[in-house]
Amino acid sequence: MSKPPIFTSDIPLFPILIAPHARLKAKARAVAKGDDDDVRAIIPRMFATMYTAPGIGLAAPQVDLGLRLLVIDLMPHDKPAPIVMINPEIVAASPELATREEGCLSLPGMYADVTRPARVKVRYLDESGARREMETSELLSACVQHEIDHLDGVLFVDRISILKRNMIMRKLAKEQKLKK
Ligand SMILES: [Zn+2]
Repeated sequence: MSKPPIFTSDIPLFPILIAPHARLKAKARAVAKGDDDDVRAIIPRMFATMYTAPGIGLAAPQVDLGLRLLVIDLMPHDKPAPIVMINPEIVAASPELATREEGCLSLPGMYADVTRPARVKVRYLDESGARREMETSELLSACVQHEIDHLDGVLFVDRISILKRNMIMRKLAKEQKLKK
């Protein structure tokens, strides 16, 4: 995946918190009117951080900002399609479930099958503050649910068996130790 040209400038990147980190388990607070200037500055840095990683989604708590804010870009057809969701809320979920392999920038190199509602409807504010609603399915649905989980201090490993979670956390700890 090549980096989209709109984000090749020298925007300072955020360091990404790696699990297990206490602040990845914290519930983020809603973005309020007074946060407008901060949010405007944060969004391009979050995209730059996500594209550089590279990843397809990033939630503010992953970069140590306890705000209900997330960015997504699935790069359909290798073209940038940035999505910003402020104070997102799942307002409807399909009864059918779907299982998909997930990874996370806060658990680098770790993957597991996660089962979630196949489709969700999400209500949020976009980067201009406009109220929006989006029906999601397939990869976008899983990604939106994964990122909203981050806002509630939930990681994808919290949605798999304890056995698998412990295995992943041990492996991650070992790899992070080797990196140092
Ligand atoms: Zn994640």
